[in-house]
Amino acid sequence: MGNFSPILKQIKGGRKPDGMCLVVGSCAHGFKENSSSDVIYSSSSVTKVADANVQLFWEAFPAGSGPLDRTTYMFTYTEPQSTSPSLEDLLEEYWKLMPKYQGVSLDELEILRVVYGIFPTYRNSPLQAAFDRVLQFGDASGIQSPVSFGGFGSLTRHLGRLSNGIYEAIDGDLLDSDSLSKLNPYMPNLSASWLFQRAMSAKQKLDVSPSFTNELLHVNFSCMQRLGDPVLRPFLQDVIQFGPLAKTLGLVMLNKPQIIPSIFRQRTYVDTMADTLPYPNSLKKMFQRKG
Ligand SMILES: Cc1cc2nc3c(=O)[nH]c(=O)nc-3n(C[C@H](O)[C@H](O)[C@H](O)COP(=O)(O)OP(=O)(O)OC[C@H]3O[C@@H](n4cnc5c(N)ncnc54)[C@H](O)[C@@H]3O)c2cc1C
Repeated sequence: MGNFSPILKQIKGGRKPDGMCLVVGSCAHGFKENSSSDVIYSSSSVTKVADANVQLFWEAFPAGSGPLDRTTYMFTYTEPQSTSPSLEDLLEEYWKLMPKYQGVSLDELEILRVVYGIFPTYRNSPLQAAFDRVLQFGDASGIQSPVSFGGFGSLTRHLGRLSNGIYEAIDGDLLDSDSLSKLNPYMPNLSASWLFQRAMSAKQKLDVSPSFTNELLHVNFSCMQRLGDPVLRPFLQDVIQFGPLAKTLGLVMLNKPQIIPSIFRQRTYVDTMADTLPYPNSLKKMFQRKG
């Protein structure tokens, strides 16, 4: 039943999500230039929307409905708080910025559909089964990446594993919550994705330069590109792996050491790195700070 399932609400007991991704966008007809896609695009530093600092990202791709139809999204990662912009605030900003991003005028477009979404994320994911005979599946299980929110893709990637597991659980009458929890085990790739979400989320009290996120993303993607397809491709396909991640972080440190002080100044990022990276505890302690 998705992110807002009543069973999920019972398990969470009203706990606030640790992060949110807010998405607004549209599918529109009338794009003469419609042959390229952006997986992720950023055209500005941290900016204000309705009094909140936000780092805006974009995604655009041709839609299947026709050669001039195109989908464009604007999204931002935020901490859930009353000062966060509403979807309405973001949509207002989207109508202002999208024509500049795509080099079109709104008057040339016929809006086919407006899309929007709120994706809550919890650091403690995936969610373990809490009740006998009840297993969360899809978005409700918290198995999707907190960066891409490609929940459908992640659902299909896990489908084979889960179908076999559910078959075995029913066959062996292993339907108590402890046994079912083994079907949603700790996933280090989700923890690593958390790290990226934290890094891409603008702080309300900026302790680094407003262009920090763009600089960090630029150096990360440049390094991944230099390391080639075996590193870049899984990342773009939402599969974060230990080897490619370690190589990328190493190359970032060698290529742009001047960014390291800013990373350490951004407290939540470093704390998240200490908490979530799938490395041994001894290595995590290196990142942890007191106070
Ligand atoms: C704008 C947007 C773009 C996206 N783009 C992508 C993408 O490019 N790639 C990708 O992989 N994923 C994408 N996703 C995510 C994807 O849509 C979800 O991960 C996927 O739909 C999750 O499927 P689900 O069945 O777990 O939950 P849902 O699709 O949310 O389905 C849950 C259903 O349960 C119903 N429900 C809830 N409560 C109750 C109740 N009490 N009783 C009865 N029914 C109830 C809801 O109405 C809903 O129909 C996108 C999502 C959005 C919003």
